[in-house]
Amino acid sequence: MRDTLVLNASFEPLSTVTLNRAVVLVLQDKAVVEQTHPELRMRGAAVDIPAPRVIRLCRYVRVPFRRQAPWSRRGVLVRDRHRCAYCGSRATTVDHVVPRSKGGSDSWLNTVASCAEDNHRKANRTPDEAGMPLLRQPFEPTPADAMLLSLGHDDFDALPDWLSKGAA
Ligand SMILES: [Zn+2]
Repeated sequence: MRDTLVLNASFEPLSTVTLNRAVVLVLQDKAVVEQTHPELRMRGAAVDIPAPRVIRLCRYVRVPFRRQAPWSRRGVLVRDRHRCAYCGSRATTVDHVVPRSKGGSDSWLNTVASCAEDNHRKANRTPDEAGMPLLRQPFEPTPADAMLLSLGHDDFDALPDWLSKGAA
């Protein structure tokens, strides 16, 4: 999968996103296409458009000096694609790996998306104590994720069927 360069409304380069995410931003009128791949098209039942190589956001996004996105519960769910870190099913809650009662902080590296059942089961224990190993380690969001967060996107993986197929 090729990446698409994302420009701010002011034309300065911000980040890259996958082709699928770029198309979603364009279809949602969040961005306009500035440049396309000459021989690559996104084909679907209703749409047949050139694959965007460069897109530009319609609304100016203020980029903070620090590259790191501020921590938020919503951000953790977006980063983890709403997948539970303990069982992989749909997550609706945020779990502190080291519980707050034991000094764990509200930070990217100490929080994971979790289903309500696992969050309840783990309670005030560490993964070791609870015998619930993490399927993956928490991480700082990528600049692309941070940008999408700042745009208020949390469903950018919910692509229409035709688009996921057409983008292959
Ligand atoms: Zn779970």
